[in-house]
Amino acid sequence: MGSSTPCSVIIVGAGISGISAAKVLAENGVKDLVILEASDRIGGRIRKEDFGGVSVELGAGWIAGVGGKKPNPVWELANKVGLRTYFSDYSNARYNIYDQSGKIIPSGLAAASYNKAVDSAIQKLRMQEAKLRGLSTITEPPLTPKTPIELAIDFILHDFEMAEVEPISTYTDFGEREFLVADERGYEFLLYKMAENFLFTSDGKIVDSRLKLNKVVRELHYSRNGVTVTTEDGSVFEATYVILSVSVGVLQSDLISFRPPLPKWKTEAIMKCDVIVYTKIFLKFPCKFWPCGPGTEFFIYAHERRGYYTFWQHMENAYPGSNILVVTLTNGESKRVEAQTDEETLKEAMGVLRDMFGPDIPDATQILVPRWWNNRFQRGSYSNYPILATHQDFADIKAPVVPIFFTGEHTNERFNGYVHGGYLSGIDTGNALLKEMKNEKGSEKESQPFLLEPLLALTGSLTLTQTDAVSGLHKWDMARQLFSNGKLVSHEAIIK
Ligand SMILES: Cc1cc2nc3c(=O)[nH]c(=O)nc-3n(C[C@H](O)[C@H](O)[C@H](O)COP(=O)(O)OP(=O)(O)OC[C@H]3O[C@@H](n4cnc5c(N)ncnc54)[C@H](O)[C@@H]3O)c2cc1C
Repeated sequence: MGSSTPCSVIIVGAGISGISAAKVLAENGVKDLVILEASDRIGGRIRKEDFGGVSVELGAGWIAGVGGKKPNPVWELANKVGLRTYFSDYSNARYNIYDQSGKIIPSGLAAASYNKAVDSAIQKLRMQEAKLRGLSTITEPPLTPKTPIELAIDFILHDFEMAEVEPISTYTDFGEREFLVADERGYEFLLYKMAENFLFTSDGKIVDSRLKLNKVVRELHYSRNGVTVTTEDGSVFEATYVILSVSVGVLQSDLISFRPPLPKWKTEAIMKCDVIVYTKIFLKFPCKFWPCGPGTEFFIYAHERRGYYTFWQHMENAYPGSNILVVTLTNGESKRVEAQTDEETLKEAMGVLRDMFGPDIPDATQILVPRWWNNRFQRGSYSNYPILATHQDFADIKAPVVPIFFTGEHTNERFNGYVHGGYLSGIDTGNALLKEMKNEKGSEKESQPFLLEPLLALTGSLTLTQTDAVSGLHKWDMARQLFSNGKLVSHEAIIK
């Protein structure tokens, strides 16, 4: 496909981090940039789809961290563009736990199970912490969840990432509230509004040739002098710098090769980070058969298999009359379901719903099963750092290997895993690159005129030929509110 004109910066990936980095560069005079996006759209893990007559969010759905002292920048953006959102109140989910015979578990039993699960989780954390610090451990091993209700609660505690040693920065910084995006234009509308500031648009579409869709980057050939990027279709792009905004799951995969290979400290940091798979399955019904009054939006199914269609939500608050249910799976269950047909998944989900609501409920007429794990441009849903990840781990994953700069939610120490983490990381990386460019300019002034045009363009020495050619559900969910705003230690306040 040949080479294109060298530019100053290539941004790989058009998710929120890539777009926010590009915006910072463009606003600071770096206009000769190119954005290479593997898929046919911008947005990455922010993705809406029309389903059952409404717009559903396959990826990020909530703006988490609202109502605190500091404003969440994504909440501010959403308000600016008038994105339709509504407050998610999970606090009643604890009264809506169904057993396999469709009975709601009595609150006393639920309370006892909660307390047991929380105590056990605290103990487990302490043991892990002690082990990691090389201290002698507590002798009594934590209790293992056994009954369906214990397993359901354990799933919500751990897979919803409650098991944190430290308070969660998103909530301490930005506030405890969460708002679900329910807008026909989708969460992704925020990205289009950002892109509009620096890319040409027409009729609500980006028409700027600097945004190149369907360009799957397969190789980065780099030196201090610049970088040559080769895409799957054989196109070659050259630049002085590259910003790599792909997910940590993609970095852990073999999709992109680096020549020379990335240094060991960088690959070690990349491999240390866990990737969570989080799957929202949407089901459309001809009519409602689930309770819809106040406090019913979220409900839990207790089964002897941990994480088996445990966490449910109806969409009547978001889209009244839509007759849509959403069930969330994670990790092993997500991967299992991704590997089977949608018909098999529908059969399983209907079995669970018939356990809860009786044999006479109608079959779903449509099902939507996102496959974040098998998507080679994602390889999972979001990063999850191990307990006691160090500042150095974050510094390493974020640090540039000049001329390659790294960005994305996984590079944000305080807000990794979130949309605002991605957004803020893009801004950070954009600014770090601007600083580098200024320094470079300063040092070059002494010897030769600064060129925003890539040095590669002058030497051509690196041009390639074609043949050369990675705990749980997150905080935007209900666990925190179920377990009273925060840490495991506050569990006594939960079940009243
Ligand atoms: C199911 C799910 C639910 C979530 N829920 C929430 C939520 O409610 N609230 C919240 O705050 N966050 C949520 N998140 C997390 C949030 O979506 C992400 O943290 C954020 O969108 C990540 O943005 P990013 O720019 O770092 O990465 P991405 O959005 O992944 O952007 C990276 C881009 O790089 C592209 N790419 C990959 N490989 C290549 C390649 N080789 N060449 C070119 N391009 C490439 C990808 O196609 C993608 O567009 C959720 C995520 C998922 C998946």
